[in-house]
Amino acid sequence: MSETQTPVQGTTAAPGEPGAQELAGRYSRSMIGVFGTPQRVLVRGEGTRVWDADGKEYLDLLGGIAVNALGHAHPDVVAAMTKQAGTLVHVSNFFATPTQIELAERLLQLAAAPEGSGVFFTNSGTESNEAAFKIARRTGRPRILALENSFHGRTMGALALTHKEAYRVPFEPLPGGVEFLPAGDIAALEAALAPGDVAALVLEPIQGEAGVLPLPEGYLRAARELTARHGALLILDEVQTGVGRTGEWFAHQRTGGVVPDVMTLAKGLGGGFPIGAVLTFGEHATGLLSPGQHGTTFGGNPLGAAVSLAVLGTIAEDDLLGNVRTLGGRLQAQVSELAGRDARITGVRGAGLLQGITLAAPIAPQVVAAALEAGFILNAANPTTLRLAPPLIITGEELDSFVEALPALLDRAEQAAADTTDEKRS
Ligand SMILES: *Cc1c(COP(=O)(O)O)cnc(C)c1O
Repeated sequence: MSETQTPVQGTTAAPGEPGAQELAGRYSRSMIGVFGTPQRVLVRGEGTRVWDADGKEYLDLLGGIAVNALGHAHPDVVAAMTKQAGTLVHVSNFFATPTQIELAERLLQLAAAPEGSGVFFTNSGTESNEAAFKIARRTGRPRILALENSFHGRTMGALALTHKEAYRVPFEPLPGGVEFLPAGDIAALEAALAPGDVAALVLEPIQGEAGVLPLPEGYLRAARELTARHGALLILDEVQTGVGRTGEWFAHQRTGGVVPDVMTLAKGLGGGFPIGAVLTFGEHATGLLSPGQHGTTFGGNPLGAAVSLAVLGTIAEDDLLGNVRTLGGRLQAQVSELAGRDARITGVRGAGLLQGITLAAPIAPQVVAAALEAGFILNAANPTTLRLAPPLIITGEELDSFVEALPALLDRAEQAAADTTDEKRS
């Protein structure tokens, strides 16, 4: 298709607006191909809904991968963003701003962080984990423990903590000293910590990218006790699980009494605006980075801070944590009930509004494609797991509509999988 061609036939784009097919062509000619072919071109969102360039509506059950905590174009976010954009957007970290200070205080309060704790702001999850990695290095100890199936981001330090070889190996050598342990194996953890030379254990309370895998019962508590005993930091990556996603402000708060040394956040923190944070708990962890040892140009800018304060404020005022807990339980019950009648569904796992629906056959990508056709956005966290991470404002009726549609989506996915097998054979 040439650059001058106007919307292709069959699209319902508004006159003068480029259609989906034209935009897809321009995308592939202008973007580095790391994301594959985009499934749709989206042009607008409101609440839990988004619309594509052809005018088709979708229920967003993925929330931009656990990011759009308040959905799309939430009035509180729009108001905070607009007000702050007209007041002060960026000043650099040579200066402080009231919104930044307020957000730091609010996060420490929500995390019930003790006196002497601190916050460092970033712009993404991977940057939060880079900072955590540097904090771990400052202990002076050489080894860092991470878990099998972990995902911590794509920059070099975070990548070194990420288990998946396909992500990691093409970029070696990575920062060294990282070892991977099987999640849930307390004896292996104890053995790894025993020499007393471990700087930190890094883990996700629920491994989101690997397929919504919750940590085995008792492991987080054991990890806290053992790291404390052996003088290692416990670094919790709550980039995906934080900010209300699991029905508590932070997922580790579901395990009473567990307080990390470091917690990393991003995704839901800005409700779509790129902002991340690292929280250090107590004076020891907070003192590990001294002046000049870390920095950021954009991190903690007043615009991001104002938006994040609005997101946190609305989650609290509208009791969205309550909504998440209620709907998470309801979704789990409904999917379990469905699994009892439909052998193609093997179960559901996760917490709150971070749920993985597991399938008997590796057809999750085909289910995602069928769902998209039917007007639902979700993703395949792995070949047998459908991930749901909808906006925290979603309603029970909206979730019901997906659960009701699921058997028919599985029919279509099975058909699509069979068709591809036939094509491969012929
Ligand atoms: C998404 C994610 C990251 C990386 O966040 P980016 O903002 O994409 O850099 C890190 N850790 C976890 C647990 C994540 O889910």
